[in-house]
Amino acid sequence: MSSTATKPFESLIRDRVAQLKQEIPSSVTLMGVSKKKPTPYIRAAYDCGLRHFGESRIQEALPKQEELADLSELVWHFIGTLQSNKAKKAIAHFHWIHSVDNLKLAQRLDRLAQGENRRPNLCLQVKVLPDPSKTGWHIDELMADLPALYLLSNVAIRGVMVIPPLGLNLEETRHCFSKAQDLFHTVQRQSREHWVQFDQLSKGMSGDYQDAIAAGSTIVRLGRTIFGEREK
Ligand SMILES: *Cc1c(COP(=O)(O)O)cnc(C)c1O
Repeated sequence: MSSTATKPFESLIRDRVAQLKQEIPSSVTLMGVSKKKPTPYIRAAYDCGLRHFGESRIQEALPKQEELADLSELVWHFIGTLQSNKAKKAIAHFHWIHSVDNLKLAQRLDRLAQGENRRPNLCLQVKVLPDPSKTGWHIDELMADLPALYLLSNVAIRGVMVIPPLGLNLEETRHCFSKAQDLFHTVQRQSREHWVQFDQLSKGMSGDYQDAIAAGSTIVRLGRTIFGEREK
């Protein structure tokens, strides 16, 4: 068999990406969540035009990034919980960090970005509904921290990231997304004098991205829909 023969996973990924590109408005950024998937999967998605990829663990992402260093237009997004001792690596190796979940971390990223001479794009992870299993700001906490966040000058605070709590029904999911949209617009209005570009609402995964888009999502983060189920 020729070494260039299309492998089954390649045509699957190609079909799924093509379908999503038809389905999703072009104003919405499609991120392929490639955690737990090997680099040939990422390469296959890149080859059919996907440019944004999300990883949730630094130690898993770094060797993959190295293997894919030839893909010059690839934009890396960090979407996992970020421990402060990994913050420097996150800045050095990712263009976006979606999971900034407290003020101290944001301030640390700002200091480190100055040292690294980078200007990362950050999204603020917010729990719009109570969720003991996740980190992130509650809405009122975020509103209280905004003045301090406005002061950060070495990072670009680009928007809000939301993950609905597990196990919501459709109505509850829509309620969660609608609250996230309201919050996004509130902060966007408020922040105009401080930030040039607070323009991203990162929400929507494989199970709920249509509802997320209907409620104003600008970035959807899709893993299983593009790459298939993950190993536990
Ligand atoms: C894993 C993950 C996703 C992708 O989830 P799928 O259900 O596979 O689409 C999106 N966002 C975050 C933060 C994740 O950890």
